[in-house]
Amino acid sequence: MEISRAHLPRTIANRIFDHVREDTGHEICGLVSAKDGKALRCQRIPNIAQDKRNRYRMDPAALVRALFEIETRAETLYAFYHSHPFGPAVPSAIDIAEANYPEAIYLIVSLSTSGVLEMRGFHLGNGESREVELEIS
Ligand SMILES: [Zn+2]
Repeated sequence: MEISRAHLPRTIANRIFDHVREDTGHEICGLVSAKDGKALRCQRIPNIAQDKRNRYRMDPAALVRALFEIETRAETLYAFYHSHPFGPAVPSAIDIAEANYPEAIYLIVSLSTSGVLEMRGFHLGNGESREVELEIS
């Protein structure tokens, strides 16, 4: 069984929230790396989707660079994050269909709940979504 709980340092959550607040009309995205199983760094990746209001597609070159850097630092991929400016913090059918990293956590931040940012985490794979209990502290 994969873990169903995950810890995210408040500092990283705040950096993700800052990123989301910088572009409230479009989906933003990035990733979080870990060292020794602990989330350590977050890295922004440009969204190159055609319609960024309700889609994201990570710039493949930037993603490859970020993954290479993670390896160079002897870190591991911990999570991907993206925002839903106009929808709830749950994976869309496309999010589930396009998820290629079953071991990573997919963090989704919603902006739609009356100005309050909400973040939830999921494992996505095989056409399924399973929520991860996030502890932010
Ligand atoms: Zn999404």
